[in-house]
Amino acid sequence: MPRVTLNDGHAIPQFGLGVYHVPPEDTADIVRTALELGYRHVDTAQGYGNEAGVGQGLRDAGVAREDVWITTKLDDEAHGYDAARAALDESLRRLGTDHVDLFLVHRPGEQDVETWRAFEALREDGRVRSVGLSNFGRRGIERLVERTGLVPAVNQIRVNPRTPHRGLQRYHRRRGITTESWGPLREGRLVGHPTARRVAARVGRTPAQVILRWHLQRGIVVFPKSADPARLAENIGITDFVLSRRDMAAIDLVRRRP
Ligand code: NDP
Repeated sequence: MPRVTLNDGHAIPQFGLGVYHVPPEDTADIVRTALELGYRHVDTAQGYGNEAGVGQGLRDAGVAREDVWITTKLDDEAHGYDAARAALDESLRRLGTDHVDLFLVHRPGEQDVETWRAFEALREDGRVRSVGLSNFGRRGIERLVERTGLVPAVNQIRVNPRTPHRGLQRYHRRRGITTESWGPLREGRLVGHPTARRVAARVGRTPAQVILRWHLQRGIVVFPKSADPARLAENIGITDFVLSRRDMAAIDLVRRRP
């Protein structure tokens, strides 16, 4: 699996598993299955209620902690310097680990500067390796950088061929921020899009695979959610083919056609 080197030097696997809406009681099984299939990156959040299952799945699979990238996100109720640090400790306890690879501010809030200072402290003491933001726009990011001097390693935003947010991605590139996509399949809806189906037929792949491959070739970090073992296997099968410029351009046009 390709990796992307972040602006702090850490290399994140460009593909992973998202576990939003995965019920807590099913999470360990799904994470273990994904790890057995070769996944090495899991994206969870305090708000998903399934961090304990992520940690259990990791232990059940018997994969070394250092070989798996774990991202979690700060709960909206835990903004502020002390609350954010305490919330991270709770995540570490639920995950059963001494650090997370990436900790994100899930959404902007009123105490962003204090929260972001807490993230800097967590990174300095090693409980968090990389720090980033989610659902931030350019102005929100600039404000934090001006006030703290700390540039986020990533911004996780809703990107897919239908809503590519090219302007925000150009800004990310100028700032050295890596774009992470949430909802890369548009919660599954893009799989039925006629353009995805046409390109998939042309290259002998599935619609989900060509959509996910489009993200990889645009340098975006992607972690589709699936609770189905067959689809977990399908989604990770995107490293042994390349979309031509024509195929990429065809998928780009999805944004003009709902
Ligand atoms: P996705 O775009 O990943 O779509 C997930 C949906 O697509 C599920 O219903 C899944 O169903 C279906 N699906 C997955 N693979 C296939 C396939 N090969 N063929 C057909 N259908 C498929 O949406 P998400 O919202 O889950 O986004 C991915 C991840 O991004 C989340 O899990 C989470 O980690 C993160 N996220 C972050 C947010 C933020 O605010 N930062 C907000 C939302 C998500 P099934 O399970 O039945 O396979």
